[in-house]
Amino acid sequence: MDALMLNCQMKCWRRIFFVMIAALVSLNASAWTYYPFLPKTNVYHVLEWGGNGGSIEASNHFEACNLFNAIFPDKPDYREPAVHTGAQWTCGKSAAGNVVIVQFAKPICPAHSTQLNPGTMKGFCFCDQPYILGNNAIASCILNNLTITLTGNTEVEPSSNSSIKALPAIATVLDQNTGQPPTTPVTVKVSLKVDPTSGGHDHGDSTRPRGDINGTKCETDDTCVTLSVGGPESSGSASVTFNAPEASGTHTITATCDGCSNTASKAVDVKVAGLATISDSVYYALIEDGSTTVIGTTEEHASNHYIASAAQLKLWELGEDFYSFQIRNSVPTPTLLHLNDASLKWGGKFDIKGRWRGDHQEHMRGTVIDVRANSSPGAIPPGLFEHYIDIAANLGIDAHLEYIGHPVKQHFHMRLLNRRE
Ligand SMILES: [Zn+2]
Ligand SMILES: [Zn+2]
Repeated sequence: MDALMLNCQMKCWRRIFFVMIAALVSLNASAWTYYPFLPKTNVYHVLEWGGNGGSIEASNHFEACNLFNAIFPDKPDYREPAVHTGAQWTCGKSAAGNVVIVQFAKPICPAHSTQLNPGTMKGFCFCDQPYILGNNAIASCILNNLTITLTGNTEVEPSSNSSIKALPAIATVLDQNTGQPPTTPVTVKVSLKVDPTSGGHDHGDSTRPRGDINGTKCETDDTCVTLSVGGPESSGSASVTFNAPEASGTHTITATCDGCSNTASKAVDVKVAGLATISDSVYYALIEDGSTTVIGTTEEHASNHYIASAAQLKLWELGEDFYSFQIRNSVPTPTLLHLNDASLKWGGKFDIKGRWRGDHQEHMRGTVIDVRANSSPGAIPPGLFEHYIDIAANLGIDAHLEYIGHPVKQHFHMRLLNRRE
């Protein structure tokens, strides 16, 4: 001990001591959990004051003083009887003043914890990572008991021509031991899957586009996005926004975290709500003449006749008005409209060839339908084209001929609600 230290009075020593503790705790706070509540034993510890640290272990304060003098035999001043003042004692007096020793409880560090700096600052145990301080009266180090939840809506529209194509969700991590967010940040992993054949895409395969999470395109079932949740000031939540792809179908957002005991999953249907199959009518045909084959059905998309209710009403009127026109004008064999593709059951991109791309762009929201106008049975005869277009226009329906001159592909593309999609 040097002269400066001997000059330090009792309050001074205590101040040094607490400053030392504060420094040690703050240095280690990020990597360790401070663990101050420990059972005491009958073993005494005597701190050797001063910035160099160190301690003397003894069974009582008299022995501590003797040991102290044994270590510093050239300082006989300290051989005087010690004075008990609660948890602190003086071993004796020096010319400069009292020297105080402090009793510490010897820590018995619980399982999964480590005593900090055993030679110097006895009295402190720190939980080993990833263990954290338990919330019970009996001190213990416990494993994080984290759980994760995922909240948010379950339906969103396919991205093309929609303003509600983003679905916000919230991932929240809570420590079940405390009911609070984790005190140290944990990594949340979010993945996005899609049911390949959902949404009416019977050709479903692994190349199917599945949208993105928080702007990151998710192309496999693996983790797509990682987020950090928890830590000081954290609410324990993170935003997980799913941006829908063009094709409809059932998607699953999954979130888990390091230390979480569960996985949170959320099914999201990408769909245009309210579509239904086209109702039967005597004024139009949904199946091929003399057959049970649905017009326009393919291996890729078996169901192609889904429509919105307002468009259904227009379609009924159109079929009836066109038929009535033919009767009034004594057409010998009136033509029933032969209806090809409308929309898939949940709308969205109608990729005719089953490759997740291609045209048929407006057949997405159940408001358009193709009507046969080629050389196949049931087609509108070319001589009636202009009348047909007029009848449609009178109902506020936009009819325009596509693939003009093509013997197979020529058809009327009908915007039943007179709206581009
Ligand atoms: Zn498809
Ligand atoms: Zn069309």
